[in-house]
Amino acid sequence: MKYQVPRGTQDILPGEVEKWQMLEERIRQFCHVYDYDEIRTPIFEHTNVFKRGNDASDMVNKEMYTFQLENSSTSLTLRPEMTAGVVRSFVEHKLFGEPDLPAKLYYVGPMCRHERPQKGRQRIFHQFGVEVIGVKNPLLDVECIALGWSFINSLGLKDLKVLINTLGDDESRNAYREALKEHFKDHIDSMCGDCKRRYEQNPLRILDCKVDRDCEAMKSVPRMKDYLNEESQAYFKQVLEGLDALGIPYEIDDTLVRGLDYYTHTVFEVVSENKEMGAQSTVFAGGRYDGLVEYFEGPQMSGIGWAMGIERLIIACEAEGITLGEKAELDAYVLTLSADVGLYALSAATMLRANGYRCECDYQNRSLKAQYRTVDRKKAKVVVIIGEDEAAQGSVTIKRISDKLQKTVALDDMITEIDRLFEAEEAHECSCEPGNCTCGKHHE
Ligand code: ATP
Ligand code: MG
Repeated sequence: MKYQVPRGTQDILPGEVEKWQMLEERIRQFCHVYDYDEIRTPIFEHTNVFKRGNDASDMVNKEMYTFQLENSSTSLTLRPEMTAGVVRSFVEHKLFGEPDLPAKLYYVGPMCRHERPQKGRQRIFHQFGVEVIGVKNPLLDVECIALGWSFINSLGLKDLKVLINTLGDDESRNAYREALKEHFKDHIDSMCGDCKRRYEQNPLRILDCKVDRDCEAMKSVPRMKDYLNEESQAYFKQVLEGLDALGIPYEIDDTLVRGLDYYTHTVFEVVSENKEMGAQSTVFAGGRYDGLVEYFEGPQMSGIGWAMGIERLIIACEAEGITLGEKAELDAYVLTLSADVGLYALSAATMLRANGYRCECDYQNRSLKAQYRTVDRKKAKVVVIIGEDEAAQGSVTIKRISDKLQKTVALDDMITEIDRLFEAEEAHECSCEPGNCTCGKHHE
């Protein structure tokens, strides 16, 4: 085929897109009740928003789509993640000066990373994420994890666990970093190229290596927890107590360091243990960052956030047999018996649509049989039949598919009649005892 989507990207077609719509709707509901507001930032940013000096992460070093247009000295980068852009925006618009801190923000959108495509790993993928900026309180770490955790639980996902660790504050991290340098000093020559780079830039990242994971030096590696100062220990303890109080199960994983370099204190990953997820088992992940607001020339303020891969979330749901959204059925199909009544049919369809009914009509002058096949395929509940007679009399014939009940009414009465049919249908579907409806949806 001559024209295809670029490797690692995909089209999301009708039939599939309903899952996304359902998830996005659910995301908005959850963020709404947690009082998080949506933020939308540009798809590309100045490169220095993402590339901040000595960052040893793979994402910054090899996965970014960075470009410079001809005759321009400006280097731009397609966003590989949102935290940096959100913090840039937080500072640019002086949200740090708002009276009600923290700023609680969420986003949903595409990210671009140039990595090797495989199941659950794409070059354009989508993230739902949150950032809570401006207040440092372990309870916010807890709240933010709780939001993500309750969201995925609401979908019915079960094979999940929270892995959590702390990197401590700057002091603790620096002490640990020194210990790691000392530890790996005699081993680094035999380790992978990435690790050699990490050793120089940020030795903590060595713990995240997928190549050298099982090497000898890794087995005897010093533990972060032995380098935490009192304050960092106390902070982490409060986070864990909060998770306990909210009933969120977790496992402490003291090798967890996370991909990006800006994390301090809490870091976490929520992973699916379902086999179908393969190596790409992390559904959402994040942590606290203390230096990022300052990097963007804002005040010294802390933030916490996480990002969830929507493609991975969908894979996880499918692996557990959870159905997300499905293509909506049609409420009504306007069936035409002759080409001459097309405009009359379109007027009827327009009235139905104005009243909120999902409705379609025929634009190809197809046979009755062919139109009925569409009715079947689209699972229309009602057909509105329009022939020469109806058009001449200003009427329509309404037929309910379930029981073939049929009635001709004036066009002006069509909506009332259809409302009545749908109400009857709903009442019928309600499984509560007649006169004692407890679902609240049906009957008076
Ligand atoms: P990984 O270790 O899988 O590369 P990461 O540490 O790079 O993940 P983050 O930058 O923390 O991931 O992104 C948060 C989430 O976004 C991940 O947990 C995952 O669900 C999703 N994600 C990250 N990269 C991709 C990708 N290339 N394709 C699909 N989803 C992704
Ligand atoms: Mg990655």
